[in-house]
Amino acid sequence: MATIIDGKKISQDIKDELKEKVAALKEQGTEVTLAVVLVGEDPASCVYVRNKKKACEYVGIRSLSFELPEETKEEELLQLIADLNAREDVNGILVQLPLPKHMDEDKVIKAIDPKKDVDGFHPQSVGALSIGLPGFVSCTPAGIVQLLKRSDIETRGKKCVIVGRSNIVGKPMALLMLREDATVTITHSKTVDLPSVTREADILIVAIGKKQFITSEYVKDGAVVIDVGMHRDENNKLCGDVDYEDVAPKCSAITPVPGGVGPMTIAMLMYNCVSAIDINR
Ligand code: NAP
Repeated sequence: MATIIDGKKISQDIKDELKEKVAALKEQGTEVTLAVVLVGEDPASCVYVRNKKKACEYVGIRSLSFELPEETKEEELLQLIADLNAREDVNGILVQLPLPKHMDEDKVIKAIDPKKDVDGFHPQSVGALSIGLPGFVSCTPAGIVQLLKRSDIETRGKKCVIVGRSNIVGKPMALLMLREDATVTITHSKTVDLPSVTREADILIVAIGKKQFITSEYVKDGAVVIDVGMHRDENNKLCGDVDYEDVAPKCSAITPVPGGVGPMTIAMLMYNCVSAIDINR
């Protein structure tokens, strides 16, 4: 029977630890402040932003909200970021993605001061991760490492296969698993005979963005399976990139959707905000 990795509980533990840390910082006269920037009214983005603000409130982080209309000019957004970069009372800046089509996301991400880049998307943060220097790490992959560590899953020397090579999940995930001493393979849409590669995995991390794509034929007996995907099935229930019912009986451990990777992303955003205090010192 597979162990179900409880992301809800682990993310709660992390937020509780951070809450204590934030309270201690407050006693020393230091307040942690996150600026959250939302452009437009994309419904999913509005939900994400609301959840991020709620998590800030729980942990004791002050959140400043900047909600700009869809038709905001790119220069105006860049000016806001410049102002937030200059503000000493702001430790972290988060620009909710995706941005409206008339804006250049790469340019906007690059405008954020790397010392305040709590999403870990700035090229400097990515570069620091790749050569093992301190810096912010993209929240979802960082959350997956915490899920593994806090579930006592050994990574050293294990074969880890990652399905997906996006900049926000697949690539940073590979770098982090290297840092955790796993032997890492990255796969993508041009990989030939994907099941034969994924079946090699002791730890299989799936970020493919395709509903219930990974079935038991992709998984070795006893593997650990981490499902990053987030979709709605035909009954409007949340599901992942992994066909959970089919795959779970084969695994030693697996993350459910919902309640696996999802809650970890926000917990790690909170973690990055608190770390920003040390990074800015
Ligand atoms: P993405 O940017 O769409 O990347 C998907 C990756 O999967 C690409 O590298 C693509 O390869 C690869 N791929 C697509 N079809 C494939 C196939 N048939 N065989 C092998 N590889 C294939 O997605 P993402 O941003 O990484 O997100 C992945 C999933 O995670 C989505 O469901 C997203 O909603 C979810 N997500 C969840 C969280 C969370 O907090 N839980 C956070 C972020 C993302 P190519 O590069 O060759 O195109």
